[in-house]
Amino acid sequence: MGRLDVSLLRYLTHEDLRALTAVEMGMKNHEIVPVSLVASIANLKHGGCHKVLRELGKHRLVCFERSRSTVGYRLTNKGYDYLALRVLSTRDVLTSIGNQIGVGKESDIYIAASDEEQLALKIHRLGRTSFRQLKNKRDYHKHRKSVSWLYLSRLSAMKEFAYMKALYDRGFPVPKPYDFNRHAVVMELLNAYPLQQIHELDDPERVYYGLMDVIVKLANHGLIHGDFNEFNIMLDAQDRVTIIDFPQMVSTSHKNAKYYFDRDVECVRNFFCKRFGYESTYIPSFDDDISRESALDCEVSASGFSKEHETEFEKMEEYFRHQPDDNDSDSDDETDSSSDVDGAHEEPTDNRVTETGTLQSTTHPVNDGTAEPEFESIKPVATMADELADTIDQLDDLDLDNKSYRPFRSEDSQQHTNHHVVKATKKYARSSATSTTSVPPEQIKARVRQAMTKEKKAALHRRLVKGESAIVTKQRRELKDDIKSSRDVDAWFG
Ligand code: ADP
Ligand code: MG
Repeated sequence: MGRLDVSLLRYLTHEDLRALTAVEMGMKNHEIVPVSLVASIANLKHGGCHKVLRELGKHRLVCFERSRSTVGYRLTNKGYDYLALRVLSTRDVLTSIGNQIGVGKESDIYIAASDEEQLALKIHRLGRTSFRQLKNKRDYHKHRKSVSWLYLSRLSAMKEFAYMKALYDRGFPVPKPYDFNRHAVVMELLNAYPLQQIHELDDPERVYYGLMDVIVKLANHGLIHGDFNEFNIMLDAQDRVTIIDFPQMVSTSHKNAKYYFDRDVECVRNFFCKRFGYESTYIPSFDDDISRESALDCEVSASGFSKEHETEFEKMEEYFRHQPDDNDSDSDDETDSSSDVDGAHEEPTDNRVTETGTLQSTTHPVNDGTAEPEFESIKPVATMADELADTIDQLDDLDLDNKSYRPFRSEDSQQHTNHHVVKATKKYARSSATSTTSVPPEQIKARVRQAMTKEKKAALHRRLVKGESAIVTKQRRELKDDIKSSRDVDAWFG
């Protein structure tokens, strides 16, 4: 398993981050974001923007692409990771990243640290079979201009955080959630092993009853885990259970709720039977053993991860799960180290297919005190403008429009200009008052009028090329719309 190379994060400049965020925003509506759009969103000069993007490209944070209709850039996995990590680090949630400790079909888990403690960082990578492959799935894209792994992974992380928080607040045995941004979730690092790695239990009956208790309690609160298998059940040294991995949770009011519930129960039963030779007569039933206590499923919806997100997420998941993997990996746009990571996804060291049919992986023991994890600091070396990535999200519409379409005037520059105008008028007034001219005023007026008509004619002449002005106006309008709709990344969820 590889490491997340975050060394560059310390050296990214204000402009780099602006351009990177602008590519991300542009990807809301474009698979490939034209440089002109990046420049407009980031409010950078076109030439400067080219240079910044080229540099970002060298570091594999963005990738240059050319299609039949567009030439531009797209964000890479690494670029997206950087944007999320940058925000988490400026929020002081994370200060360093260590080794990768887990890898699943749709996520990478890293050990991380804040100033106070070690943490687990889960980076969701839905649709990781590569963006290029997504491009072939046009039928899915039909109703959106461009939907991508960015959107999928972001929804998945958002869902996981929302559920983990709701469960943790209710006292369920889940890791403590700390924060999330984009596709990255920060949570408590468990000093535990997946049940899959455990071959002997002192008291299998106690653990079995504990697990069934969790399944029933979840259902009493309106939820079903949906992937309750040996890879998502963590056991500590005292055989205490913690449940992880929540993006696939469903409500007990889901049309297939009973099926998912029974599948979770069956999964644990089978595993205990095979691994520990333990068979119990206690098999909770969805119809008889559930007594609804609260509606966590509805509470989670209220916290921002709405029913619409849920439905869309389910549809997308369903869609991507049923696509054959063609192993057309993203390796061309990743750094050496991140392609290592990708390699790990394609050929995981200890991946198995579980009873539920999902591909899972084992982790290595993490914070058992035997190994000193290596960390790489992600704190920026130079102090940059605070939370640039967040700030750019909130750019004021008017401000940006002003800057993009007219010479930008701040209050200072306005005063400065006024000063000039006043000075110039005074000077002109003085000179016109003092100068003596022999040309009569009527003649001056006539000359001015003549000059103006000449100008008008010239202007008209310029417009005579057929349709030229219409094209320019259309392009301007399109660019303006583009910027408007691309700017608000959070509207992805709206
Ligand atoms: P996926 O959704 O890809 O299956 P999981 O959340 O199940 O991802 O995590 C994959 C592996 O990473 C797990 O099997 C577990 O071993 C490890 N892992 C996940 N979260 C933590 C954590 N908080 N602390 C320690 N290890 C973890
Ligand atoms: Mg899992």
